[in-house]
Amino acid sequence: MDQVRERSSGLVIAVSKGRILQEALPLLAGVGIVPNGDPDESRKLIFETTEGQTKIVAIRAVDVPTFVEYGAADIGIAGKDVLLEYEGDGFYEPIDLKISACRLMLAGRGRVRNDSRRLRIATKYPKVTRHYFARKGVQVEVVKLYGSMELAPLVGLADYIVDLVDTGNTLKANGLVAMEHIVDITSRLIVNKASMKIKHAQITDLIDRFSAIIG
Ligand code: AMP
Repeated sequence: MDQVRERSSGLVIAVSKGRILQEALPLLAGVGIVPNGDPDESRKLIFETTEGQTKIVAIRAVDVPTFVEYGAADIGIAGKDVLLEYEGDGFYEPIDLKISACRLMLAGRGRVRNDSRRLRIATKYPKVTRHYFARKGVQVEVVKLYGSMELAPLVGLADYIVDLVDTGNTLKANGLVAMEHIVDITSRLIVNKASMKIKHAQITDLIDRFSAIIG
């Protein structure tokens, strides 16, 4: 990535692959930044764009804050779920892009356990989950998973899960129900702190252009 930055006087924008990228592309196009290819389809990782030296890198959601904190990207587009879970504060979060909206929820099989055993929660979001239950004064055991959370209550790995819910179809398909709403999630624009100083005019101009089209 250093090589990308050394060659470029423009911005490097890191975007979470998948759902967020698909919703971010029209927004990026709205501010005049169109990649020269479909970052979700191509095996390429770095895309030139229609805006001068600006480049887009399409990476895994959990890596976006790391790329931005370490300055490998000036700007990132990532879900608030990933940002809440990230340990570090090396970036600003100037705008809510209001895309990829969903809710982080506690879900389970609908039954409430009445024995005294500590609840076990499976999630990709251990930090947010621990914080949520600590605020409620409930002690829980948190099991970190990287995917297929819905399986955990079905096979006895956990009592409940904490996961993103959009339509609710995934929960329903697995016989689970949403039980508690933890936090609303949308994607945010994040900015490396040093880039904000060094490329101030360019970045504030871009933030203004995003703000104008988000409304
Ligand atoms: P749904 O069936 O529409 O409720 O979507 C739930 C599934 O999609 C779960 O596996 C979630 O982890 C995932 N999901 C939902 N919304 C988002 C989002 N905004 N970003 C990333 N993953 C999501």
